[in-house]
Amino acid sequence: MLIIPGSGCYMGVSGADDQSDSVPESAVFLNQVHSNRIVVNPVGGETADGMIVDRHSRVPALKVADCLPVFALWDDFAGAAHAGWRGLAGGIVENLLQAVDQPLRWFITGPCICGDCYSVGEEVRNAVIRNDPSAGRDHLPGRVDLRGSAIRRARKLCGEQFKVAASGECTLESANLYSFRSNGTAGRNILWLAEIERGEHIRQLND
Ligand SMILES: [Zn+2]
Repeated sequence: MLIIPGSGCYMGVSGADDQSDSVPESAVFLNQVHSNRIVVNPVGGETADGMIVDRHSRVPALKVADCLPVFALWDDFAGAAHAGWRGLAGGIVENLLQAVDQPLRWFITGPCICGDCYSVGEEVRNAVIRNDPSAGRDHLPGRVDLRGSAIRRARKLCGEQFKVAASGECTLESANLYSFRSNGTAGRNILWLAEIERGEHIRQLND
Protein backbone atom coordinates (compact mmCIF):
# COMPACT_ATOMS: atom_id res chain seq x y z
CA MET A 1 0.00 0.00 0.00
CA LEU A 2 1.24 3.45 -0.89
CA ILE A 3 -0.43 6.32 0.96
CA ILE A 4 -0.67 9.43 -1.19
CA PRO A 5 0.13 12.13 1.41
CA GLY A 6 -2.57 14.70 1.95
CA SER A 7 -4.79 13.35 -0.81
CA GLY A 8 -7.01 11.08 1.29
CA CYS A 9 -6.16 8.22 -1.08
CA TYR A 10 -3.91 5.19 -1.23
CA MET A 11 -2.67 2.93 -4.01
CA GLY A 12 -3.40 -0.69 -3.13
CA VAL A 13 -1.23 -3.56 -4.35
CA SER A 14 -2.20 -7.20 -4.57
CA GLY A 15 0.77 -9.18 -5.84
CA ALA A 16 2.22 -12.65 -5.50
CA ASP A 17 2.74 -12.71 -1.75
CA ASP A 18 0.71 -12.87 1.45
CA GLN A 19 1.35 -9.23 2.29
CA SER A 20 -1.13 -8.18 -0.38
CA ASP A 21 -3.87 -5.65 0.31
CA SER A 22 -7.38 -6.95 -0.31
CA VAL A 23 -8.98 -5.69 -3.49
CA PRO A 24 -12.07 -3.54 -2.78
CA GLU A 25 -15.36 -5.04 -3.95
CA SER A 26 -16.17 -1.84 -5.81
CA ALA A 27 -13.00 -1.98 -7.96
CA VAL A 28 -13.67 -1.34 -11.66
CA PHE A 29 -11.59 -3.29 -14.21
CA LEU A 30 -11.27 -2.85 -17.95
CA ASN A 31 -10.62 -5.37 -20.70
CA GLN A 32 -7.03 -4.21 -21.26
CA VAL A 33 -5.61 -4.60 -24.77
CA HIS A 34 -2.49 -2.34 -24.85
CA SER A 35 -4.45 0.43 -26.58
CA ASN A 36 -4.42 4.18 -25.93
CA ARG A 37 -8.18 4.34 -25.34
CA ILE A 38 -9.67 5.99 -22.25
CA VAL A 39 -13.27 5.49 -21.10
CA VAL A 40 -15.15 7.85 -18.81
CA ASN A 41 -17.33 6.34 -16.06
CA PRO A 42 -16.94 2.71 -17.12
CA VAL A 43 -19.23 0.08 -15.61
CA GLY A 44 -16.41 -2.45 -15.94
CA GLY A 45 -15.29 -4.76 -18.73
CA GLU A 46 -15.04 -2.12 -21.44
CA THR A 47 -12.24 -2.69 -23.94
CA ALA A 48 -9.84 0.14 -23.14
CA ASP A 49 -6.64 0.76 -21.20
CA GLY A 50 -7.52 3.84 -19.22
CA MET A 51 -10.46 5.20 -17.29
CA ILE A 52 -11.76 8.28 -15.52
CA VAL A 53 -14.15 7.85 -12.58
CA ASP A 54 -15.77 9.94 -9.84
CA ARG A 55 -13.12 9.50 -7.15
CA HIS A 56 -15.60 9.43 -4.30
CA SER A 57 -17.76 6.63 -5.63
CA ARG A 58 -15.61 4.36 -7.82
CA VAL A 59 -12.27 2.60 -7.43
CA PRO A 60 -10.28 2.35 -10.68
CA ALA A 61 -8.19 -0.83 -10.88
CA LEU A 62 -5.60 -2.32 -13.23
CA LYS A 63 -4.04 -5.73 -13.84
CA VAL A 64 -0.37 -5.66 -14.80
CA ALA A 65 2.68 -7.89 -14.74
CA ASP A 66 5.56 -5.77 -16.09
CA CYS A 67 3.71 -2.86 -17.70
CA LEU A 68 3.43 0.42 -15.80
CA PRO A 69 0.25 1.14 -13.84
CA VAL A 70 -0.49 4.87 -13.78
CA PHE A 71 -3.01 6.72 -11.61
CA ALA A 72 -4.06 10.36 -11.63
CA LEU A 73 -5.96 12.41 -9.07
CA TRP A 74 -7.94 15.57 -9.62
CA ASP A 75 -10.23 17.27 -7.10
CA ASP A 76 -13.29 15.31 -8.22
CA PHE A 77 -11.93 12.51 -10.37
CA ALA A 78 -9.52 9.61 -10.35
CA GLY A 79 -7.89 8.13 -13.43
CA ALA A 80 -6.02 4.93 -14.19
CA ALA A 81 -4.07 3.73 -17.20
CA HIS A 82 -2.27 0.55 -18.18
CA ALA A 83 0.93 1.87 -19.75
CA GLY A 84 3.26 -0.60 -21.37
CA TRP A 85 5.51 0.38 -24.22
CA ARG A 86 2.63 0.26 -26.72
CA GLY A 87 0.41 2.40 -24.56
CA LEU A 88 3.12 4.97 -23.88
CA ALA A 89 4.09 5.15 -27.55
CA GLY A 90 0.42 5.55 -28.44
CA GLY A 91 -0.02 8.46 -26.02
CA ILE A 92 -2.14 6.85 -23.31
CA VAL A 93 -0.68 9.04 -20.56
CA GLU A 94 -1.47 12.17 -22.56
CA ASN A 95 -4.97 10.88 -23.35
CA LEU A 96 -5.64 10.19 -19.68
CA LEU A 97 -4.48 13.59 -18.47
CA GLN A 98 -6.31 15.49 -21.18
CA ALA A 99 -9.60 13.81 -20.35
CA VAL A 100 -10.25 15.97 -17.27
CA ASP A 101 -10.67 19.71 -17.26
CA GLN A 102 -9.36 20.30 -13.71
CA PRO A 103 -5.83 20.91 -12.41
CA LEU A 104 -4.01 17.61 -11.92
CA ARG A 105 -3.14 17.13 -8.21
CA TRP A 106 -1.26 13.81 -8.18
CA PHE A 107 0.40 11.56 -10.72
CA ILE A 108 1.05 8.12 -9.25
CA THR A 109 2.98 5.21 -10.72
CA GLY A 110 2.94 1.66 -9.43
CA PRO A 111 5.48 -1.14 -9.71
CA CYS A 112 6.68 -2.08 -13.20
CA ILE A 113 9.75 -3.56 -14.83
CA CYS A 114 12.47 -0.97 -14.24
CA GLY A 115 14.64 0.91 -16.70
CA ASP A 116 17.68 -1.26 -15.91
CA CYS A 117 15.85 -4.55 -16.47
CA TYR A 118 13.62 -3.78 -19.42
CA SER A 119 15.74 -4.70 -22.43
CA VAL A 120 13.96 -4.24 -25.74
CA GLY A 121 14.62 -4.31 -29.45
CA GLU A 122 15.41 -1.16 -31.39
CA GLU A 123 11.91 -0.95 -32.84
CA VAL A 124 10.26 -0.88 -29.40
CA ARG A 125 12.78 1.57 -28.00
CA ASN A 126 12.34 3.91 -30.94
CA ALA A 127 8.55 3.79 -30.62
CA VAL A 128 8.76 4.93 -26.97
CA ILE A 129 11.43 7.63 -27.33
CA ARG A 130 9.96 9.11 -30.51
CA ASN A 131 7.44 11.16 -28.49
CA ASP A 132 9.23 11.12 -25.11
CA PRO A 133 10.13 14.68 -24.00
CA SER A 134 13.70 13.57 -23.22
CA ALA A 135 14.03 11.77 -26.56
CA GLY A 136 16.49 8.92 -25.92
CA ARG A 137 18.67 10.61 -23.32
CA ASP A 138 17.06 9.15 -20.23
CA HIS A 139 16.80 5.58 -21.46
CA LEU A 140 19.80 3.25 -21.24
CA PRO A 141 21.03 1.76 -24.51
CA GLY A 142 18.83 -1.17 -25.53
CA ARG A 143 16.41 -0.45 -22.70
CA VAL A 144 13.22 1.46 -21.97
CA ASP A 145 12.32 3.28 -18.74
CA LEU A 146 8.52 3.19 -18.66
CA ARG A 147 8.19 5.02 -15.34
CA GLY A 148 10.53 7.89 -16.21
CA SER A 149 8.93 8.34 -19.60
CA ALA A 150 5.41 8.48 -18.13
CA ILE A 151 6.39 11.11 -15.54
CA ARG A 152 8.14 13.26 -18.16
CA ARG A 153 5.06 13.09 -20.36
CA ALA A 154 2.87 14.24 -17.45
CA ARG A 155 5.24 17.13 -16.67
CA LYS A 156 5.33 18.23 -20.28
CA LEU A 157 1.55 18.31 -20.46
CA CYS A 158 0.61 19.59 -16.98
CA GLY A 159 3.71 21.50 -15.83
CA GLU A 160 4.99 21.57 -12.26
CA GLN A 161 1.65 22.08 -10.50
CA PHE A 162 1.12 18.44 -9.47
CA LYS A 163 2.94 16.06 -7.14
CA VAL A 164 4.36 12.67 -8.06
CA ALA A 165 4.19 9.50 -5.99
CA ALA A 166 6.14 6.64 -7.50
CA SER A 167 6.64 3.09 -6.31
CA GLY A 168 10.27 2.25 -6.98
CA GLU A 169 9.60 -1.48 -7.04
CA CYS A 170 10.65 -3.51 -10.07
CA THR A 171 8.33 -6.40 -10.92
CA LEU A 172 11.20 -8.43 -12.36
CA GLU A 173 13.44 -7.98 -9.30
CA SER A 174 10.79 -8.34 -6.59
CA ALA A 175 9.74 -11.80 -5.46
CA ASN A 176 6.51 -10.29 -4.12
CA LEU A 177 5.23 -9.25 -7.52
CA TYR A 178 4.22 -11.09 -10.67
CA SER A 179 6.51 -10.56 -13.63
CA PHE A 180 5.88 -11.97 -17.09
CA ARG A 181 9.49 -11.28 -18.04
CA SER A 182 11.00 -13.14 -15.10
CA ASN A 183 9.08 -16.42 -15.43
CA GLY A 184 6.33 -16.11 -18.04
CA THR A 185 3.67 -16.14 -15.34
CA ALA A 186 0.03 -15.65 -16.22
CA GLY A 187 -0.41 -14.00 -12.82
CA ARG A 188 -1.10 -10.30 -12.69
CA ASN A 189 -0.54 -7.74 -9.98
CA ILE A 190 -3.69 -5.80 -9.16
CA LEU A 191 -3.34 -2.11 -8.42
CA TRP A 192 -6.06 0.34 -7.46
CA LEU A 193 -6.53 3.83 -6.14
CA ALA A 194 -9.05 4.31 -3.35
CA GLU A 195 -10.11 6.77 -0.70
CA ILE A 196 -8.77 5.95 2.75
CA GLU A 197 -11.75 5.02 4.89
CA ARG A 198 -12.09 7.05 8.01
CA GLY A 199 -10.33 5.20 10.86
CA GLU A 200 -8.83 2.50 8.63
CA HIS A 201 -5.31 3.33 9.78
CA ILE A 202 -6.08 4.00 13.41
CA ARG A 203 -4.62 1.29 15.63
CA GLN A 204 -6.51 0.00 18.63
CA LEU A 205 -4.80 1.57 21.62
CA ASN A 206 -5.72 -1.26 23.98
CA ASP A 207 -4.25 -4.15 21.98
ZN1 LIG B 1 14.51 -4.03 -12.44
